[in-house]
Amino acid sequence: MNSSEAHSDVIIIGAGLSGMPLCRHPTAVKIKNAAFEIFDKGNEIGGTWSENTYPNLSCDIPSQLYSYSFAPNPEWSMTYTSQPEILAYIKRVAHTIQSRIHLNQECVSARWLEDQDLWRVEFLDRTTNDTFVRHSRVLFTAAGFLDIPKGPKSIANIQEFGGRIFHSSHWDHEVDFGGKDVVVVGNGASANQLVPWLLKNTGLRSLVQVVRSAQWIAPKDNQPIRKAQKWVLRNIPFTNRLYRWWLAMKLDLAFVAFKDSTLGRHVRSMLEASLVSYMEKTAPSQYHSILVPSYAFGAKRAILDHGYLSLDNPKAKLIKSQNLTVVGTNQIAGENGIVYPADLIILANGFKTAQLLTPMAITGLDGLNLRDLWERGSDGARAYMGVMVSGFPNLFLLTGPNTLPSGHSTLLGIENSVTYILRLLEPLLSSEGTSKKPHSSTIEVKKDAEDAFNRFVERRMKGLVYTSNVSTWYIDQRTGRNHLVWPGSQLEFWWSRCVEVIRWADFVLSKKKTT
Ligand SMILES: Cc1cc2nc3c(=O)[nH]c(=O)nc-3n(C[C@H](O)[C@H](O)[C@H](O)COP(=O)(O)OP(=O)(O)OC[C@H]3O[C@@H](n4cnc5c(N)ncnc54)[C@H](O)[C@@H]3O)c2cc1C
Repeated sequence: MNSSEAHSDVIIIGAGLSGMPLCRHPTAVKIKNAAFEIFDKGNEIGGTWSENTYPNLSCDIPSQLYSYSFAPNPEWSMTYTSQPEILAYIKRVAHTIQSRIHLNQECVSARWLEDQDLWRVEFLDRTTNDTFVRHSRVLFTAAGFLDIPKGPKSIANIQEFGGRIFHSSHWDHEVDFGGKDVVVVGNGASANQLVPWLLKNTGLRSLVQVVRSAQWIAPKDNQPIRKAQKWVLRNIPFTNRLYRWWLAMKLDLAFVAFKDSTLGRHVRSMLEASLVSYMEKTAPSQYHSILVPSYAFGAKRAILDHGYLSLDNPKAKLIKSQNLTVVGTNQIAGENGIVYPADLIILANGFKTAQLLTPMAITGLDGLNLRDLWERGSDGARAYMGVMVSGFPNLFLLTGPNTLPSGHSTLLGIENSVTYILRLLEPLLSSEGTSKKPHSSTIEVKKDAEDAFNRFVERRMKGLVYTSNVSTWYIDQRTGRNHLVWPGSQLEFWWSRCVEVIRWADFVLSKKKTT
């Protein structure tokens, strides 16, 4: 790529699951005809699914629902797909747009040029360390919300540690665990998957797992998909689509349990009782008080059991501690002072979800800076329908604030947001217009419409379990606001984004100022 200030119609930042459907989605025909380009800082496409390669990683959503509607895959091998299979699927889907994808290119900043109605986007080429600039009419951020790993902040004196330390999202496949004392920090979805693998496959000497808060853990019935089922999905028209609808509706039923209504509380207490019974039956009794949550089911995303609860391996020990301290080159202590040997520390402590768009600096109208607005402003991260922010024309966000359907397929949510954005883009990408949607060069959401939408989100959120007093990555600790989860079912999300008439009065559509 040369360093000239080249021009594209559409620039997409991120080649993960969000970046791809923009170009392959059936309603994206107009984008296909436009000059679009995808830039990703990684050296492979796939985002989450290329970065996270730790053993035993698989999806927590049935495979058929963790695939695009426009690229159904009857060949999934298991009920819940493994990471290598998902990555191979993403690469297959991206095959036809390969030439539009630029890897190792990190977006460092983007600035709206008011006099030209263009985004000026600055990149760092990670292979040469050179910077270069591209211009585009439309800018998409598809940079993910679980992309920046948390560091070892909760471990005091870490500089004294003499062993190896790495995050689960940067798994070191060269490490020989044989005869080693391993400490795993965290007990979320990643730890739940990799701890049983470590105990079963590595010949390690001891494993101490540090739990900060309990998780609701449910059984995972992961089975090979039978040949007959694959044949039906492959050969009988519409079965794949029907099956996806059925799976989506089934998962959506759980949303009732997230409500603070009489029915919600009743369903929730039944679910909680059955999960407590499962967890207590499966896990050794000395760990029940550490493992069984005291907060409402749904306040955090529930975890599927990958054999984790059978912690009766004599090499394994579970401890509860908010903080750790390195007390010797190869020793670590919990908050009660008990010391454990540690040759290796694996951080399975999640991602920095409070920084939704960092490290990109995005500047809109009148020098308005999105990072300042979201990370320093009193409201935190907010957007209209999760996809547009007032003051930032022609900027579209994927996995933006309050777009994550809790307990459901993130991918389905992404596709619904994509469909909504493509509907919004019509006046920009078509050559003709109507009275409501005149052909335009810019689209910007009005501030009062954005505020009204967020008041609606706050109102809905109050009636749900997500606001329970529990520490979760859904909540921005600075504002105390749940800025990730959509406060409704997936069905409502789909309806509001894909079916409901667009409120064009909420937007300012305008013509190009200069030619
Ligand atoms: C370990 C793990 C397991 C998960 N499992 C599930 C699951 O089972 N079910 C589920 O529904 N969800 C799951 N998720 C959530 C998952 O992140 C989403 O489902 C989905 O993969 C998000 O896709 P994305 O494209 O929006 O983001 P990502 O996959 O994070 O991709 C974002 C891309 O943007 C790129 N990028 C970021 N910043 C820049 C920049 N400045 N310049 C250029 N490129 C940039 C990154 O390199 C990355 O490739 C999981 C997440 C993780 C981390």
